[in-house]
Amino acid sequence: MVTKTVDFSARAVEALHNARLRGSFRDAMDDLIRKRLDHFRDETLFRELSGEGAAIRARALSRLPELLEQLERKLVSNGITVHWAEDAAQANETVLKIIRAHDSRRVIKGKSMVTEEIGLNDFLETRNVEVLESDLGEYILQLLDERPSHIVMPAIHKTKAQIAELFARKFPEIPYTEDVDTLTATARRVLRDAFRSTRIGISGVNFMVAETGTLCLVENEGNGRMCTTIPDVHIAVTGIEKVVEKLADVPPLLALLTRSATGQPITTYFNMISSPRREGEKDGPKEVHLVLVDNGRSDIFANPDFQETLRCIRCGACINHCPVYTRIGGHSYGTTYPGPIGTVFAPLQDGLKERGELLSASTLCNACTEVCPVRIPLAGLINRLRAEYAAPRGNVKDAGSGRSWKEAMAWKLWSAVYARPRLYQRLLNWGLKHRDRLPRELAPWSDSRAMPVIAEKSLHQLVREKSEADQ
Ligand code: SF4
Repeated sequence: MVTKTVDFSARAVEALHNARLRGSFRDAMDDLIRKRLDHFRDETLFRELSGEGAAIRARALSRLPELLEQLERKLVSNGITVHWAEDAAQANETVLKIIRAHDSRRVIKGKSMVTEEIGLNDFLETRNVEVLESDLGEYILQLLDERPSHIVMPAIHKTKAQIAELFARKFPEIPYTEDVDTLTATARRVLRDAFRSTRIGISGVNFMVAETGTLCLVENEGNGRMCTTIPDVHIAVTGIEKVVEKLADVPPLLALLTRSATGQPITTYFNMISSPRREGEKDGPKEVHLVLVDNGRSDIFANPDFQETLRCIRCGACINHCPVYTRIGGHSYGTTYPGPIGTVFAPLQDGLKERGELLSASTLCNACTEVCPVRIPLAGLINRLRAEYAAPRGNVKDAGSGRSWKEAMAWKLWSAVYARPRLYQRLLNWGLKHRDRLPRELAPWSDSRAMPVIAEKSLHQLVREKSEADQ
């Protein structure tokens, strides 16, 4: 039937049997949900703000090619070098070329999901470039050789005790401790040294302003600011959809992003990068590069049914509220972006043959849609993708790759019967008469559900009997 290269089901089943993992996710998600709610108790306020956020993002997308050109012109006039990358391979090669041009063998990185998406770390390391993650969560995962399980809090699946064990193993000079301040100070010491001695810093970007040629970076640890100011060269890597029209568009989006992501009115650091170090300035990189990554985004942009996906500001709220994600965690998805946004983005980016299996990772409860600060109709998009997956043809890559002829026949038969009331009634009566012989299992559907017991009498019979009795 379907080529299951992702093997989502197997990983999800494994995660479901991991009680510790489920406990970690449940507690962490409950905490994030509560923190967000503290800022959005007033439904009207959230509706107003999200309406504004959605309008800003929709307006930017409606002028995407034009805004990208304007952004490039502005950045170049500000002294920032712009590189365009059609896919992951081109983006990685571009970054490597810049590193080699500076004869460097080491880079220090801030948090960036796009670099995860293009597999930059693995690519650079196989070319003898050492990559050091400076975001605490990413740093922990790098020590463990693991991938992020959440787009905002990459190491959220790890408990304090697991991190303490890891640090005791990696830094034998410090005694075992679960004290968060001590663990953070240890990482900070290592990273501070690296900031001083590394010549190239890599970061992501949250928003790019076409009007002014400004790259905005939101963070809490200060490592983003250090990555973008201490090394001589700063390479920013981001997706083309992050552009907005004007500077005035940033505050509403920032207000939505921080409240939705971590329940903060504002993050500790908000960086605005508009140029390399200018004459007379005391700090800042001497060179700034921006690598604009397409990697399938143009195809999503060109598809009016799914263009809304690109409004995403990567806040993670849909993930935090997803009952499926909370139970299986981020690694089960096998994608860079897990949860509802990943369930939509990955099949659009990689095709339904590769990622169609993910579409079952939703109960369509609509919680994701309700909390999305830029009003992306995630549940509706998942439903539409399911239709593309099973339809004979469609306008998404590999549409129809999940089509099963048995299922298609069954539905055809059902619609034929349902369109003929007499036949339907006769079959229903037959089913009622032989209810004991109906199958009790419909694997895998009934693996975790009890098959409904067919009532003794149909609703029609009951109504008829009642009206006869009332006469
Ligand atoms: S889809 Fe919406 S809720 Fe989910 S990460 Fe993107 S902006 Fe946040």
